[in-house]
Amino acid sequence: MKICTRCVLPETYAGIRFDENGVCNFCNAYSVKEEKEAHFHFKNEEEVKECLKKYKNLGRKYDLLVPLSGGVDSCFTLIQIVEKYGLKPMVFHSDHGWDDPTATGNVERLCKELDVDLLIWKNDLKFMRKLFKYFNESDDYTVSPCYACGNMLYLNGLEIADNFNIPLVVNGYSKGQAAMMHDGEKSRDWYGRMINVILETGDQEFFAKFTKKWELLKRQVIYETRADLEKEVDLDKILFIPFFVFKFNKTDKEVLEKICRDRFDWQPLRVSYPDRTTNCEMIWLNSYRDFNKRQYTHYHDEYSTLIRAGEISREQALKDLELNPPPGLLERLATECDIELADLR
Ligand SMILES: [Zn+2]
Repeated sequence: MKICTRCVLPETYAGIRFDENGVCNFCNAYSVKEEKEAHFHFKNEEEVKECLKKYKNLGRKYDLLVPLSGGVDSCFTLIQIVEKYGLKPMVFHSDHGWDDPTATGNVERLCKELDVDLLIWKNDLKFMRKLFKYFNESDDYTVSPCYACGNMLYLNGLEIADNFNIPLVVNGYSKGQAAMMHDGEKSRDWYGRMINVILETGDQEFFAKFTKKWELLKRQVIYETRADLEKEVDLDKILFIPFFVFKFNKTDKEVLEKICRDRFDWQPLRVSYPDRTTNCEMIWLNSYRDFNKRQYTHYHDEYSTLIRAGEISREQALKDLELNPPPGLLERLATECDIELADLR
């Protein structure tokens, strides 16, 4: 299997081409784009702080919504938002049914430590089981089940922001996730594919629930350039900013982990995929399917962006992305979602 010599994308990735040095077209396009867009971004923290003030000045109960997974990225984001930017957040944690108690524990301890309001959203388990079943069993390998689930969690955030009249959401997505979210063309393509996957199951009820959630999407504005944050607050819209989109925010896991441990006794999951993250159990099953069917997970996509941005070394990324599921786990998850494990091979 041929893999890009700079990032970790394999030859099975859609639209990939390699130059004479084995570097992929996505890596080659990255530096050009970076240089061209440099002036669209904030130069330092002070500039961002200044822009965020107007959300504070709205005088509402909550200045913004912060989704918190319990991993170091989102925990660090919340600490900064409260202590450095002086904003009053409502925190939301999504439990889709396979949430790890360690992650929930981190969330609860941090919110208590910072004295901020926390809302834990429990997803409809029956709906989520079907989601994992349909997307794992689908023949369209371009869409990861993790992507479909991630979108649901994202839309939950939008729904809560809408319910509580909050015009700003700042989330702790890593730079790699942020880059994936902000690729409008890719998002539209994947949305169409998700719809097709569901239509093929013939499950009308699921289809109706799934598409209804997307209606809220017309309220969101995704942060692209500094102009999105500089303009007046549009109370009819909800602005989404990934905290780590700002170049001066670094995402070195060791550094963030130390800050979180010292601050509120942050605890790591015993085993996670990719290694050194705080992710849910279902990622093991979804990644197993993605890896078998197309030889990469959507984390290979995400980590490739991190490598290009200089946030992680290629060597470390390859190590973190090795897939070694704990014994018996895949079997249990497959049974819980009524999936034949053999079909995912
Ligand atoms: Zn590459």
